[in-house]
Amino acid sequence: MKTTKFFFPLLLALLASCLGCGQGKRTQYIGIVSAMDVEIELLLKQATIQETKTIGTATFHIGKLKGKDVVISRAGIGKINASSSITSALTHYDVSKVIFTGVAGGVKDEESVLDQVVGTKVVEHDYGYRGNDGFIWCGGDPGLQEPGEFYECDKALVDLAYECSLATLKDQKVFKGTIASGDQFVASSEYVAYLNEQFDAYACEMEGAAIAKVCANYDKPFVILRTLSDKADGVAKESYVDFMDAAGDQSSSILLRMLESL
Ligand code: SAH
Repeated sequence: MKTTKFFFPLLLALLASCLGCGQGKRTQYIGIVSAMDVEIELLLKQATIQETKTIGTATFHIGKLKGKDVVISRAGIGKINASSSITSALTHYDVSKVIFTGVAGGVKDEESVLDQVVGTKVVEHDYGYRGNDGFIWCGGDPGLQEPGEFYECDKALVDLAYECSLATLKDQKVFKGTIASGDQFVASSEYVAYLNEQFDAYACEMEGAAIAKVCANYDKPFVILRTLSDKADGVAKESYVDFMDAAGDQSSSILLRMLESL
């Protein structure tokens, strides 16, 4: 009787303190996402990685970078891999904000390869309605054909990314604007002109809008950072192959500078 009286409150106290310390210890991460290994190579060289996990097509490296707790994920190419990977990151880890880093095709005439684009909003350029008269960019409901959606990047992250791009780059230009995503590598002068006219896009790539849509669903602030590996024109494939390493590293170096202020 005496033992039970003593033991029961002690057990409760222990249980409560364990629950408390578990909650207090839950780490908040900055989520860093890319499509390809080449886009996170520089980050992994500088990070201290405690654990690497594979969930579906995505690889997650969990550790510290610039003193910050980070989950660095290599999602795989395209919107489906990007959605799957960001959903896993947001449901498995306590992620406070998301930064995508990688390479892209430039859309504007005044842009050059290795210039930097910070996304202010993101759009799916290949989502819509295809009829006998061609493609209409719109919401998916054929009865309504409402305009498609733009996803806004987080203003504070955009401002920081822009500042850090200017501070990091010497010879390259820095642009802020819309990024158009689709499940296709764009290597066509005609299509890139359409992306400019229809969306006033500054870059085209294959993952940003998926990251944006899932982050919007989970109410997580995000930004998309892209260094231009090519101009999405007739020679885009060759340019991409020649410049993806340098472009991947450049985007990462801007992200490293951002981490110092986050
Ligand atoms: N190396 C891959 C193909 C990469 S696709 C293979 O051979 O399978 C191109 C990647 O870079 C995508 O992740 C995309 O987001 C980005 N990208 C760079 N330039 C692009 C362009 N012109 N159009 C679309 N995506 C581009």
